[in-house]
Amino acid sequence: MEEKRVLLLKFGELFLKGKNKHEFEKLLMENIRRKLAGFDFSLEFTSGRIIIENYDESIESVLIQKLQTVFGLIGIARAVEIEGEVESIKSYVSSLKISGTFRVSAKRADKRFPLTSVELEKVLGEVVLQNNESAKVDLHTPKTTLNVEVRFNGKCYVYYENIRCAGGLPLGSAGEALLLLSGGIDSPVAGYLMAKRGLKIHAVHFHSYPYTSEQAKEKVITLARELTNYVDEIKLHIVSFTKIQEQIHMNCDAEYMITIMRRIMMRIAEKICQRENLGAIITGESLGQVASQTMQSINVTNSVVSLPVFRPLIGFDKEDIMAIAKNIGTYDTSILPYEDCCTVFLPKYPVIKPTIKRAEHLERYLNIDALAKEAIETEEVLIIKN
Ligand code: ATP
Ligand code: MG
Repeated sequence: MEEKRVLLLKFGELFLKGKNKHEFEKLLMENIRRKLAGFDFSLEFTSGRIIIENYDESIESVLIQKLQTVFGLIGIARAVEIEGEVESIKSYVSSLKISGTFRVSAKRADKRFPLTSVELEKVLGEVVLQNNESAKVDLHTPKTTLNVEVRFNGKCYVYYENIRCAGGLPLGSAGEALLLLSGGIDSPVAGYLMAKRGLKIHAVHFHSYPYTSEQAKEKVITLARELTNYVDEIKLHIVSFTKIQEQIHMNCDAEYMITIMRRIMMRIAEKICQRENLGAIITGESLGQVASQTMQSINVTNSVVSLPVFRPLIGFDKEDIMAIAKNIGTYDTSILPYEDCCTVFLPKYPVIKPTIKRAEHLERYLNIDALAKEAIETEEVLIIKN
């Protein structure tokens, strides 16, 4: 009897997408191929599952680790592939050594298969009991769950455990957006969460060299590189904010400095989006975290752009954001002590409830269009690859 070791990949949510289902599945397959570029394997799609086969077993754990970062996948199983016939399944299961409590969990994707899932579970449960003296059925809290899936390709997959993956939607399936990437803890997490919802991520970082150091910029490049573990490749726009900050510092009320900085960042971000054909702006703001993230502040910064602004962390506590940052591997870089441009000339008491009217009034003392134009024209663009 032929037995073959494979990786059985499970994906979620795609079924919600009706007509777009095939597009999504195609994209997911492409993303998997790209993630595993350089390795020898083959890929098969059979409704509801993707199967990776013909790989060298010594690289199996590397493949799994990489696949865990592919958005759209919800689980991976190390499985054995056998013929999807009742007799061959029984024969294979009779060779398994199982001790203690167990249950069989069967799925029959192909309704032409002669037994229902429940019947197959019963038959295979008997087979296990006959061949293993100490085995005992426990449907609720078994030590071992024997999963058996008969799929449309006429094959059956047998496995014990499900390895969790990132979930979400295939990268690129929701379009492309621009992440405002600072050196802090929050914005990389925001980028990760939106990429997980299918957005391909581009990034912009504002620096105030020489008030901010070369290391601060390097830190942001490192963060972008860490994000490429999930998002494949990031086009990073590095924009000088120095002159803009000096102008704001000289011409505007100290308490409105951050408000006006934010408004100019948003305007520049929107211009980059228009030029690069990106559909939204992403920030790491969280309601009430600092003065610039009150409802009123967000309203005043939001009012200068017409593209949607995604703030996936808006309802998150700092603790929760930190936990995700640790989990995705950006935390250690984020806490390096290099200063962000927002901390240069920082006012002691930034306004907590700014108004659009006042911000517009103060902005009359600045030549925003020219400043923004110059900043964009002198940007540095890096393509960050994994
Ligand atoms: P983070 O941890 O992401 O730095 P934060 O808690 O420090 O966030 P702020 O400094 O108020 O909060 O920044 C709010 C958001 O504005 C950031 O999450 C980021 O999206 C954007 N932002 C702030 N500074 C910069 C910058 N220098 N370049 C690009 N985006 C920035
Ligand atoms: Mg910050």
